[in-house]
Amino acid sequence: MVLNVAVVGAGVVGLSTAVALQQRVKNVKVTLIADRFDEGTTSWGAGGLFRPDLDSYPAEHQSSFRQWISDSWKFYNALASSEHSQDCGLTFVAGTLLQNSPKDLGYSCISELTHDFQKLDEAQIKKMNLPSTFKYAYSCTTVITHVPTYLRWLMQKFRGNGGKVECRKVSRLSQLSDDFDLVINCCGLSAVELCQDKSMYPVMGHLVRVKAPWFKKFVFSDDLYIIPHNDYVLLGGIKDAGNWSRAPDPAKRNIILSRAYAMFPALKHAPILDEWVGLRPGREKVRLEVELIKGGNKKTIPVIHNYGHGGHGISLSWGCALHATRLVQELTSGLQARL
Ligand SMILES: Cc1cc2nc3c(=O)[nH]c(=O)nc-3n(C[C@H](O)[C@H](O)[C@H](O)COP(=O)(O)OP(=O)(O)OC[C@H]3O[C@@H](n4cnc5c(N)ncnc54)[C@H](O)[C@@H]3O)c2cc1C
Repeated sequence: MVLNVAVVGAGVVGLSTAVALQQRVKNVKVTLIADRFDEGTTSWGAGGLFRPDLDSYPAEHQSSFRQWISDSWKFYNALASSEHSQDCGLTFVAGTLLQNSPKDLGYSCISELTHDFQKLDEAQIKKMNLPSTFKYAYSCTTVITHVPTYLRWLMQKFRGNGGKVECRKVSRLSQLSDDFDLVINCCGLSAVELCQDKSMYPVMGHLVRVKAPWFKKFVFSDDLYIIPHNDYVLLGGIKDAGNWSRAPDPAKRNIILSRAYAMFPALKHAPILDEWVGLRPGREKVRLEVELIKGGNKKTIPVIHNYGHGGHGISLSWGCALHATRLVQELTSGLQARL
């Protein structure tokens, strides 16, 4: 019997989940439904830095976070080390995480996963010759994802595996019970509307793209990050919780630029290419669980929610996709019996 699954959402979470399902679940037919694709998604514009921060997650749920991050890293690390790395937009980049207070627990995931993670001492920090007075610094080589390339690569895989794509807005998940045995909901911030999830909120972020091909290392601090890509560098650092505006704000752009210029004066000579505003799908923790939903046809179908990845969606996506896939496998025996 074929299991007919709808995945709602074509951001990094939906596409990863759709591909993971095709790879791991037998006799599955996957349809990807979304009202926005590519540059219409939040994922498209994200910085793409793999920098898991355990401090951002509630203590009682940190073991799930660790598992998802570790599963994602295994996947990204293998791909970035392979002959496919360029096609999927993954690159290893070295850089520094700067802090005013210690972050030994927060960065414990990344320290365990990367091969060269190091806490820098005072003398090493001084040698970095930064104008700011950061007291703590950590260095490592991590993966940076060029998200537009990665999304295209995932879509190509999905279609290549026989996946079907529908461009439409789902107004109620229960409507999908007519045509599908199971739904995976990867709708990101739209869960506010689609699931009436009151614990979701936007965390507005603003990125400025500059041309600085000589800037090859990433730098991340609480209020400024610099993420190098092949032919441009992203400058960011704004996290404005509760702000729904997607319009670039000149004041925020100036804050980012002045912080970047103060730390690296040479960036003043980097031409500004454009800017982008995105809303992180904020939630205290990712919602990754099964809910049974009754459709108008009285058929009850399982919906697996996979949304609310905040500022870690690129880093968590593959690990969460595997978790969702395991939930499908657990449900499958019961469903197959009913089909
Ligand atoms: C400025 C900024 C920088 C970031 N940098 C990083 C970073 O360096 N590293 C990192 O790990 N993360 C980063 N993030 C976070 C990351 O971008 C998000 O966590 C991630 O993109 C969320 O992906 P998603 O697939 O859940 O949502 P989205 O990409 O928003 O996709 C949601 C999908 O659901 C579809 N959808 C929603 N509702 C419906 C509906 N009713 N019917 C049909 N379709 C629907 C949409 O059309 C869309 O296709 C950053 C975010 C921002 C804003």
